[in-house]
Amino acid sequence: MEYLYQFFFFTAEALLVGLFIITLFQLRNKFGIATLYISLGVFQHMQSTLASFLYFELLPGFFVSPGSAVLFTAGLFAILLIYIKEDAEESRNLVYGLIFANITLSLFTLLIGAHVAGTPPPVVADVPLEFFIYQPRVLFLGTIVLVLDVFLVILSYEYLGRYIKQLFIRIYSTMAFVLIFDSILFISLAFYEHPQYLSILQASLIGKLLVSALYSLLLYVFLKFETQRSLFNERSGHDFKDMFTFLTYRQKYEQLREKALRDPLTGLYNRGYLNEYLPQEIATATRACRPMALLMIDIDHFKLVNDTHGHQAGDKILEFVALVMTKTARDMDVVCRYGGEEFTIILPETNKNKAKAFGGRLQENLVMLFPQFIHELPCIVTLTIGVCIVPDEASNMNDALAYADKRLYNGKLSGRNCVVVDDDTSADPNKKTIDAH
Ligand code: GH3
Ligand code: MG
Ligand code: MG
Repeated sequence: MEYLYQFFFFTAEALLVGLFIITLFQLRNKFGIATLYISLGVFQHMQSTLASFLYFELLPGFFVSPGSAVLFTAGLFAILLIYIKEDAEESRNLVYGLIFANITLSLFTLLIGAHVAGTPPPVVADVPLEFFIYQPRVLFLGTIVLVLDVFLVILSYEYLGRYIKQLFIRIYSTMAFVLIFDSILFISLAFYEHPQYLSILQASLIGKLLVSALYSLLLYVFLKFETQRSLFNERSGHDFKDMFTFLTYRQKYEQLREKALRDPLTGLYNRGYLNEYLPQEIATATRACRPMALLMIDIDHFKLVNDTHGHQAGDKILEFVALVMTKTARDMDVVCRYGGEEFTIILPETNKNKAKAFGGRLQENLVMLFPQFIHELPCIVTLTIGVCIVPDEASNMNDALAYADKRLYNGKLSGRNCVVVDDDTSADPNKKTIDAH
């Protein structure tokens, strides 16, 4: 009960700070981003003050400081948020502000220490003299570690993005990785001779990992629902170059690359991306001996749609089909527009039966979602789908595409609107009778 009570307060504290950061970030068009930066600066100070004297017992024997667990983690959370939504150059402003403020504060505290030590009594001071030596050291080291943290947050978010497609896991892994690095480095540097070194390290790790799970969830939900607006998109060039400029170039390069690999009409990946991605997925499936399904999909009688309703109406159908495909696919699946009205979907970890079920779901979803878009679409369409399973039926890209294409062709011959997973299509139970034309 006692620990539940602690958890409740911890969660409430973290939630308050996390929501506050997201809200100020969202309101940046109104108040300017400086409001958020100043708030984070104040949090920074509170964080080190609290961390030096306040710890709660969150679990038996585990003491956690709301200062470092909630407030310090909030700083990294904000940096990740700014990096993802704006760019690395924008996070620079926040980081440089914190560095300059912390260095000045440590010098100021040292100076006060000398001032107190050199003044003849009586001096009105409630703090022991060691505070003025300890505090600047902690602040100074904290600042150096913070700079490393920031680079690490950005680089690991980018790096992990190549391997982790699920956004929440990507965000949490990034935060967890950096916080583990931070705790070990900072606490080893600042408290190595402290008698309770290990418990301080443990407290820091547990508190930060717990709170960062909550922040990652907040960031994930925020990114999922927030529109893609960006305040700082068009800015005049900087003539000041540093690590952040490099990171921003990288980020912009990635964005451009991402754009070049997308089909402008449907927003799906294009054939260029498929050519890059499919061989990698085939290699992974072959290495791990895990089946992967390649679906080749063609809209039935699409020429007739164009001829009857016009090319623009045809385009609307293409967009609709792409939307249904994206909605049916899981996060790890990759949907591409292969060309014209042909699509491919890569389904990792999917065997023949599951691929067939997926194809069936796709066809059902097309029918189910149609009423929602009935005003924008001229008619309903059906799909014919050919499936190839890697590595059982093909071990390279060309063979896999040819196999799926052959089955797609067989599906067309046997009457369309079906999912073909075998070479014998005569007894395909998934064959449907709906045909709009
Ligand atoms: P089938 O059932 O045999 O596939 O019949 P189909 O009419 O779909 O045959 P086919 O694949 O030959 O027709 C493809 C048509 O797709 C021809 C072309 O006019 C149309 N098309 C290709 N790209 C686009 C596009 O970007 N927009 C529109 N509106 N139509 C496109
Ligand atoms: Mg075609
Ligand atoms: Mg067609």
